[in-house]
Amino acid sequence: MEEVRMKCPAGHGEMRIKKAKKKVIFRGVDISVPVEQYRCTVCGAEAGTVQQTAAIQKTISDTYRKAVDLLIGDEIVEKRKRLKLTQEVLAKRMNVGIASIKRWEGGIIQSKSMDHALRIALGDQTVGDSCTGNRAFSIPRIKLVLKEFESILGRHILKKNDKMLFAAKYLWYADMVAHRETGEGMTGSTYAALPYGPQLNNYKDLIDDIIGADESKAEPLSPEQKRIITRIAMKFSQERMVYDAAHKEKIWKRQPNGAIIPYTDSSELIGI
Ligand SMILES: [Zn+2]
Repeated sequence: MEEVRMKCPAGHGEMRIKKAKKKVIFRGVDISVPVEQYRCTVCGAEAGTVQQTAAIQKTISDTYRKAVDLLIGDEIVEKRKRLKLTQEVLAKRMNVGIASIKRWEGGIIQSKSMDHALRIALGDQTVGDSCTGNRAFSIPRIKLVLKEFESILGRHILKKNDKMLFAAKYLWYADMVAHRETGEGMTGSTYAALPYGPQLNNYKDLIDDIIGADESKAEPLSPEQKRIITRIAMKFSQERMVYDAAHKEKIWKRQPNGAIIPYTDSSELIGI
């Protein structure tokens, strides 16, 4: 910590560095933080430098993230560097902005679903397959699968400014049924349990890329995969049907909000 002189705002002269442990409750987790602050020996006023305050915030963030099993900033940096990825490449891999990577590495707490996405992008074996359905994530493939649905349904399911409320559910069924029946999904997508049903994890950051993707670059659908898409499209010919069916699935219902729905649950699908 650099040497800084601080004067008491009440005019008692120079303040002294004081080390202490502070207990804070952060998002319901008890955290004990070693703090180093300036303190006036006369009136007890306390002040911290920008660096001291940042260090306290980082400690709180890291302690909290460890307690709830999220990657801490240094772990993200370490894993990223081990894979020789720049922040920019990692951001592209996850379809998030580079600013998000900088924030998480710097101490801002990522959501549970973003933590899963981070672990997948950083090649963490403990999440890999059950979150991606034994397949590499491909945005052009998502577009290809949605186009196949559209050709059978005879209408657009992915529209501009779409929140993927319906498209994501068709996609989810396609991936899950394919996993159940062929051992692998179709798109490598990860799905989160959200209040409005199963949703493509991180969909807000993906949607423009999906709309703009070139599906001709994707691996073509196999006859088996086409049959699965056809079955789903015939069973859920209206948007409302796929929406309602997804909401009856216990593999979505039993997950807490924001949690990843593992592909290994595909055997418990009931809608199709
Ligand atoms: Zn004072």
